[in-house]
Amino acid sequence: MSRILYTKETIQKRIAELGAEITQHYKGEEVVIVGVLKGAFIFMADLVRACNFPCTMDFLAVSSYGNSTTSSGNVKIVMDGKHVLIVEDICDTGLTLSYLLELLRARKPKSLEVCVFLQKSACLKATDLKLKWVGFQAEPVFVVGYGLDRAEEFRNLDYVGELKQEYYVKK
Ligand code: 5GP
Repeated sequence: MSRILYTKETIQKRIAELGAEITQHYKGEEVVIVGVLKGAFIFMADLVRACNFPCTMDFLAVSSYGNSTTSSGNVKIVMDGKHVLIVEDICDTGLTLSYLLELLRARKPKSLEVCVFLQKSACLKATDLKLKWVGFQAEPVFVVGYGLDRAEEFRNLDYVGELKQEYYVKK
């Protein structure tokens, strides 16, 4: 790790704020919270415990391959007529989330919002992508920890750090 970007304390403080904002937004409505595997699993676990409204939880698996994305399975989550909140680890180009939102919009949810832990600046350029809640604006570096991996490693760190360039994995 070349440096720590977000400590455990910083992350938990921000999650408490996000939880309060999201709770206020839904005001006791029932919500289906959908986590995007694998990266969002730790963020989602903390976020749902900071939220206070009736909710059910499910997960979607998406794999990125360079510039293209492909769903790894059938979407079987019932979301027709329900409020749906997507929880994602990081938005880089925005391709993954754009793909997912298109997929889920077709299922006619009552509302569809996104809460992303980190947003990179490239994602800001994807103008049609609306991220209702963002944990932190991230620097354009490769980050690991708190669910985010480098070749499946480092997900279990309770902080987020910048990976040293020599550990980058070429795809
Ligand atoms: P996008 O489709 O927005 O370009 O990429 C989103 C996905 O790329 C994320 O869900 C994540 O899996 C991966 N990704 C993008 N930036 C990073 C990063 O800095 N660190 C890690 N570990 N994964 C990243």
